[in-house]
Amino acid sequence: MFNIFEELDENKFSWDSIGDVINGRKNLGEEMPIFVYRLFQFTIKDELAKRYGNETTVDIFRNAGKLSGIEFANHMLDLDLEFDEFVAQLQQIFEDVKIGILRIEKFNMETGQATLTIGEDLDCSGLPITGETVCNYDEGFLAGILQVYTKKDYIVTEVDCWATGSRVCRFEAKVQS
Ligand SMILES: [Zn+2]
Repeated sequence: MFNIFEELDENKFSWDSIGDVINGRKNLGEEMPIFVYRLFQFTIKDELAKRYGNETTVDIFRNAGKLSGIEFANHMLDLDLEFDEFVAQLQQIFEDVKIGILRIEKFNMETGQATLTIGEDLDCSGLPITGETVCNYDEGFLAGILQVYTKKDYIVTEVDCWATGSRVCRFEAKVQS
């Protein structure tokens, strides 16, 4: 029998959903201005918040970010590297694809607890200061990457953001018990 809940739980998105951009955009190529990305993201966020409220919207962005981080890690990263090399790879790729400038401030090898920063963040750098952290998608994205690499479930919370008046976004990552 058709089960609607089973259907809803399945991810329709996978890395292949992105399609063959190089072939599809032979003249325009893979890049576009940040404002196009932000227009898309912030108008979707606005519409979701109007319909479902802020809390649900934040949750949706975090979950979507996590799915994205999992797919990104599985398709873009060498997961067999030792920790230091893995971090170096992650920093390089964040810079190459212009997500931001990633730094690991702390990583506790025993607990898996980490503090990460992203400078010039794709989602928030340059935004008006509202006093609220806005990088919920990044929270999920980082949690997804950490989960795939460490095989542990992570919760990532942004504690500083451009939108709270900080120059970098700072994220606290914890293994979910
Ligand atoms: Zn931020």
